[in-house]
Amino acid sequence: MDGKYITFTIKEKKGIALIAHDNEKPKLIEWCKKNCEILKKHRLYGTGTTSRMIVDATGLSIRAFNSGPLGGDQQIGAKIVEGQIDFVVFFSDPLTAQPHDPDVKALMRIAQVYDIPMAINRATADFMIQSSLMNESYDHEVINFKKNVKDRAESL
Ligand code: PGA
Repeated sequence: MDGKYITFTIKEKKGIALIAHDNEKPKLIEWCKKNCEILKKHRLYGTGTTSRMIVDATGLSIRAFNSGPLGGDQQIGAKIVEGQIDFVVFFSDPLTAQPHDPDVKALMRIAQVYDIPMAINRATADFMIQSSLMNESYDHEVINFKKNVKDRAESL
């Protein structure tokens, strides 16, 4: 494919981001309790309030970023770009307007660009966490950004 894509690997030990909008926080906390033993095996990250509430309820260790409306979703997006986060569970609220809606969209977009598994509801999260790929490394094709920059710089 002309070097347009390069192979990235999501390792056996994954960098998992946990985020929930306010109305969805109880659901995510419940989900984390249920899947605590699996989550423990990975590196966990999350937005400020969500992380704090999960830590209090489960004792899991989570690296907390800022609160979502204060830039936490964007910090998580940046960690996807840097290759530290490669799995996202984001229980977003489909029924309530969010002040940081552009940030939420940006996070979803960057997860698509980097071909990162991202659950936006509980059923998807259940299927993802039960996948045999949770215990394996996984190779996937991601746009070759060095080549992309070189080609653009030469052609524009
Ligand atoms: P919070 O942010 O965990 O700080 O509430 C989540 C979000 O609304 O994106």
